[in-house]
Amino acid sequence: MVKAVIVVVAVPGAGKTTILKKLKEIMPSVSVINFGDVMLEEASKRFGVTDRDEMRKKLALMDYRNLQLHAAEAIATRGDGVVIIDTHAAISTPYGYYSGLPPEVVRALNIDLIVFLEFRPEDILARREMDQETIRKRGLDSIEAIEEHQSISKMFAIAAANEAKCYLKILKYYYPQQYPFQHAIECAKELANLIEFLLQQKGITA
Ligand code: AMP
Ligand code: MG
Repeated sequence: MVKAVIVVVAVPGAGKTTILKKLKEIMPSVSVINFGDVMLEEASKRFGVTDRDEMRKKLALMDYRNLQLHAAEAIATRGDGVVIIDTHAAISTPYGYYSGLPPEVVRALNIDLIVFLEFRPEDILARREMDQETIRKRGLDSIEAIEEHQSISKMFAIAAANEAKCYLKILKYYYPQQYPFQHAIECAKELANLIEFLLQQKGITA
């Protein structure tokens, strides 16, 4: 039985996947599903796309929309217990931004809470610089481009929470880290607390 659906969004390279790994360590009962992975599985079957970056660059809008909805529907049937969806509120494409959580996707997912994670653009750039694969495949955006993507993403997250009639929590990590992975560790704890709190509100336990 699905107890709660929590969508976690942040711009690419912010450290979301690392955070969710740490969340899984402190709260092993949650299921973490990566939206992009589910989309890529289907994109490779339908279009022979093998690279996650190719999806947003090469697929026609109609195909992309269909894939996105298909992924949302697959996730809705796959999830069990507390389901955490690792995704993006706004996808940056060569043609402009595209909503990661348009109305039909939001409706398919039946979301309780959207968590928007916000970081200093300088930290995001530094995290991307540490990832050779990101540099090779995506290239590095400017600070201004990251700042714009993050602020546009927040607006899309607000629109999604409105459509979903769910909660929207914004977690900000603007302080400099005192030790490696401090943001990830503290964010994972904050997420675990939020989940406990949400389950209490729903009258269930993890
Ligand atoms: P990620 O590895 O999480 O950065 O996601 C890889 C790719 O999956 C992104 O570049 C998008 O093309 C796609 N993706 C992830 N989440 C969504 C979403 N909610 N809607 C549309 N595409 C998505
Ligand atoms: Mg990721």
